[in-house]
Amino acid sequence: MKKLMICVFCISFIVGFVAHAQKVPINFDKYHGFTGSESFLKAVSNAYPDITDLRVIGKSTMDRPVYVLIISNKKTGTPLDRFVQLRNPRQEPVDNVPPMTNDQAKPGHWICGSTHGNEFTGTEVCLYTINKLVTGYGSDTEITDLIDRNSFYICPIVNPDGVYNSVEKDLSQRGNSLMKDDDHDGKINEDGPDDLDGDGRITSFRYKDPKGQYIQDEVDPRIMISLGEKDKTDKQRWSVIREDKDNDGDGKRGEDSEQGFDLNRNFPEVWFDDNGYQGGTGDYPTSATEVQALAEFFSTHHNIMMAQFYHTSGGFTYRPMGVSSDVTMHPKDIAVYDLIMGKKYVEMMGDDMPKAWMYPDSIGDYKKDLEAKSGNKFAAARGYEMPRTWVVHYNEKENKRYGFGLQSDWAYQEMGIYSITTELFNYRMDLPGNTFTGDDAYTLFQHAALKYQQAKANGAWFQDWKPFKHPELGDGEIGGWYPQYQSNAFPGEILEKICETHWLYEKYRASLLPHAVVTEAKGKVVEKAGSYRIIEVTAKVENTGKLATNLTRGAELPGNRPDVVWLIGDRDNVSFIQGLAWQKAGVLDGTMSIPGFPKGKTSNEVKWLVKVRGNTPLKVVVSSMKGGTNAKDVEIN
Ligand SMILES: [Zn+2]
Repeated sequence: MKKLMICVFCISFIVGFVAHAQKVPINFDKYHGFTGSESFLKAVSNAYPDITDLRVIGKSTMDRPVYVLIISNKKTGTPLDRFVQLRNPRQEPVDNVPPMTNDQAKPGHWICGSTHGNEFTGTEVCLYTINKLVTGYGSDTEITDLIDRNSFYICPIVNPDGVYNSVEKDLSQRGNSLMKDDDHDGKINEDGPDDLDGDGRITSFRYKDPKGQYIQDEVDPRIMISLGEKDKTDKQRWSVIREDKDNDGDGKRGEDSEQGFDLNRNFPEVWFDDNGYQGGTGDYPTSATEVQALAEFFSTHHNIMMAQFYHTSGGFTYRPMGVSSDVTMHPKDIAVYDLIMGKKYVEMMGDDMPKAWMYPDSIGDYKKDLEAKSGNKFAAARGYEMPRTWVVHYNEKENKRYGFGLQSDWAYQEMGIYSITTELFNYRMDLPGNTFTGDDAYTLFQHAALKYQQAKANGAWFQDWKPFKHPELGDGEIGGWYPQYQSNAFPGEILEKICETHWLYEKYRASLLPHAVVTEAKGKVVEKAGSYRIIEVTAKVENTGKLATNLTRGAELPGNRPDVVWLIGDRDNVSFIQGLAWQKAGVLDGTMSIPGFPKGKTSNEVKWLVKVRGNTPLKVVVSSMKGGTNAKDVEIN
């Protein structure tokens, strides 16, 4: 009997484990693309209805949905509008404002990938993060707590057309799809690349060309080495182009194909339509439907306080700003970014830590040091040069801005969000057992990568060169890396390691979010008169989270109101003698110390004097745009 019981226990354990593990199976030995991501998102939202909500927040240029998976416990969180009945509902045909959903009453954490369609490693990190969150809920206390208290907004694919073309069709597409007829032939998306050798894939065509910018590698002639513009060489020069011919007879190849706007230049922060400089910025900020979808979502989800916009590649993280220098940011925000978040990232990446981050008490000395030594006045003002893995887009050496209309700049400057952009995958470090340095690092990487793909994928990521006679360019060869393996983390162990590191990093950032809580709500009857009582209500609100309830930048934005405390009761039976129905609580500091900045108040007390008829109940509600909403019944005695 005992034996049998053990067996029954074993079987039920195994069955339980298998059922749990296979609820929505996912692995990372291949890229999911648009189609695979879409079916994963739908399956997850069906399998975990209590903690997920799949929304379509907009459509791509070619009409594909832009998805956001909301992960948050639907039973926790109490939006402010739940406590007050709408007194004068609008009449037809104008709709009333839709009620808030629970997720909007909790601190929000946005994570997205593939703003650039051919940089889809971030999509995989998003799917990995979703899988960790939903499978950890209920079994891992830390994850359960994060999902109960916060709202994750995960958008694996900002640019669905770009990902579809880059993965499903293996045609690298950075921008969104084109809606403009750039060559004025009355057609859009025509004359894309051509599968010249009819093998079902588009790779590269290389041909001998005295003006070419490539030479063949001597060790492995499959590898093409790019020369700089001015590099001199006695060796045979080659040109390498995408497999393509001129179908519309305008003398150009690969033009007007499928590249539209650059979505990470189309956001409304110092947006500048300068096609000569970078190209593809769009006709006006948010002119790209995909960017418009994000801008709308952020403007109806002011609870978002963390944002990660994944790109590839490089193996480092950009914190704002790109269009302007550190002078335009608040020193305290910079301290949170660098000395808290940057420190953790640099630690996780095994990079060298700036001394000032390890010994912030001595930061004054480091500033003096840098003033004397460094030509970088921004570094001198901070007390440190940015480390390799935690950087700014802004060109500090030349005091020159980088780019226009960047999403991460926009999120910080206009929405008051701790936004970052991580460039995932570093070819110099991420191939197991290898580190490549020096000028020929990329060539050395390619030697090793060719061996790696032979061993791991049986050579499926690279097409060996085969002779081909091009209709316009003559003799040459078709072959090379398949486009999807050119700048993304290789699937399998390399991709999984990157996913794990960055999921853990964003989990850490989620643990920093503020939480506004009503810790005390008491009423003292000071006078009775007939059916009325005069009550003095005292409430204490507190931020129990690590960071303050607003960024310094956030607190000064007109659209980011300060934390407020409401006293709510049946309005026909409650009148206010002292104190408005809502009172400002200001910004509540968090429990974490920020090096170099004195600790502010983490709590605040608010008082009211009210006249109450009968036994009508009273509630105190603290509502912080980024720190969440929390309510407590007033205890009257
Ligand atoms: Zn990018």
